[in-house]
Amino acid sequence: YQAKQVRGRACTYAGRRDVNSIERLRLLGDLGRAVDRGELFVRYQPQVDPATDAVVGAEALVRWRHPELGPVGPDRFIPLAERSGLVAGVTAVVLDRALADAARWHAAGFAPSVSVNLSARLLTDHDLPGLVAEVLRRHRVAASALVLEITETGIVSDPERARAVVRRLRALGCSVAVDDYGTGQASLTYLTDLEVDELKIDRSFVTGMIQDRARAVIVRSTVQMARELGLRVVAEGVTDAPTQRALAALGCHTAQGEHVGGPMSADAVLDLLRRRDPRAAPLPVPVSPRT
Ligand code: C2E
Ligand code: MG
Ligand code: MG
Ligand code: MG
Repeated sequence: YQAKQVRGRACTYAGRRDVNSIERLRLLGDLGRAVDRGELFVRYQPQVDPATDAVVGAEALVRWRHPELGPVGPDRFIPLAERSGLVAGVTAVVLDRALADAARWHAAGFAPSVSVNLSARLLTDHDLPGLVAEVLRRHRVAASALVLEITETGIVSDPERARAVVRRLRALGCSVAVDDYGTGQASLTYLTDLEVDELKIDRSFVTGMIQDRARAVIVRSTVQMARELGLRVVAEGVTDAPTQRALAALGCHTAQGEHVGGPMSADAVLDLLRRRDPRAAPLPVPVSPRT
């Protein structure tokens, strides 16, 4: 009886894996055309100063509008793009879109940063800094407004080359951020060796930090460490107001998450900037009390 059950289960797993690989093959086959046909688009997640709620930046998150399958998220196709060499093309599209939108926000009188996720794979690509410089120039966006996010796992796989590419990106004037901090296997040494500018605490530590003492301790000590190292610190996965207040009290520079705003269009970011500009004058005090 037991053997049968095990065999049955093995069958189920194998079946599932087949379905997944069929889907993967299909996505992989379609991805090349997706880049050329403009099926990729970008959503932005706003970032605020948790103390003032002012919008200070936005993270670009790629999406794929597949003609038959509908919307496909990055977790489903970025790994495929990385393995097939298509990721450079995807990144070029996202960078171009993100800087075009940043140029619009800046033209409207605001100065948010824009963050773009870089695949680990690209950190070994010596053409990357040249591409970044070219796109910045084309859209006339100051390099200081661009943040490039890299994941810890990406940093570890080839530290020597990553270091060289990071150095060249920073030499352009861009900031470099360590994404999903705390979930990779990177030793703390990589933080100092790479000379990054920003640390993004993974949302698995931030979400629920109010209820969970261990998470709260991790977030607090990470914020403190980052500050003492002279790094900007961003908390991801802020899902409620008490968490945002707690982060403000800890001295966390930037908050991002569902409570701040979900992934939205560039126009929606502009609306939010208009409502929550750091330099906006406070509402005038009414001269006479309204009755
Ligand atoms: P990430 O860079 O850590 O981005 C944050 C992800 O968490 C986004 O998912 C975002 O929608 C989600 N998120 C943000 N706040 C919350 C929250 O409060 N609760 C929950 N449950 N989720 C939240 P998304 O857009 O599906 O992106 C997933 C990952 O795909 C990203 O993680 C990033 O690593 C990667 N990615 C996205 N866009 C690109 C891209 O253009 N290039 C590359 N190479 N990777 C990308
Ligand atoms: Mg990111
Ligand atoms: Mg992240
Ligand atoms: Mg992530």
